[in-house]
Amino acid sequence: MIVKQVWTGNAYRNFNYLIACGETGEALAVDPLDYEKCLAAAKEAGWQITQILNTHEHRDHTGGNAPLAQRTGAKVLAHRNAKDKIPEMARGLAAGEVIKVGRTVELEVLDTPGHTMSHVCVRSHTDQPALFSGDTLFNAGAGNCHNGGHPDELYKTFSQQLARLPDDTLIYPGHDYIENNLRFTLNREPDNQRAQALLEELAGQDPNRAYVSTLAVEREINTFFRLTSPSVIAKLREAFPELPENPDPRTVFLKLRELRNKW
Ligand SMILES: [Zn+2]
Repeated sequence: MIVKQVWTGNAYRNFNYLIACGETGEALAVDPLDYEKCLAAAKEAGWQITQILNTHEHRDHTGGNAPLAQRTGAKVLAHRNAKDKIPEMARGLAAGEVIKVGRTVELEVLDTPGHTMSHVCVRSHTDQPALFSGDTLFNAGAGNCHNGGHPDELYKTFSQQLARLPDDTLIYPGHDYIENNLRFTLNREPDNQRAQALLEELAGQDPNRAYVSTLAVEREINTFFRLTSPSVIAKLREAFPELPENPDPRTVFLKLRELRNKW
């Protein structure tokens, strides 16, 4: 499996991806909004885009479907419940299904509601796994829920699915938000030295050569995985004095999501 991260350079800071089979040169494009950059990257590598995967139905993820499909004949895959929202969709996906790319690549579908109710992440079957996490999990952050999502579902996705993935899982999110998100982490947990060090290292990074985190790193720097951290809880109780001393993780998650909306 070869992964090419394509930085769109747009105002929403979208990342698109090409996932290719090194043997056959067949490639799947993830959320190829900037289809021209995706086509150029595929051409440069000698790959043919045969499939398009939309992690979810938002326009900044699906906007390149039609022109890319027209130029390549690629089929569009997305969550099966997105079929009324993504007109180009050819295959509806459900949890546990496997998407094959060429001869060597297998991507397992995770049904990950929260940002929207028809969102998938995919996880590669490779020695070091990779997670293409769309707008569910960002570097040092979590997706918002105000365009068709639900914070309770997002919490369940984090706690019951993402938190259980292996530490060495590479994280490929749908947007480049790491710098701003690390500032949120430090706002919520000022003594998080790992987040502080990473912010100093990455501030002003070139998104064309973006840092790729792992789940182990996210567990250290992502507030939405740090629901039992004493300093996260202490700081949260400053904002919400009615919180008990040992709030349950779901409550912490929902309050953090609420604060992030206003931040
Ligand atoms: Zn979205």
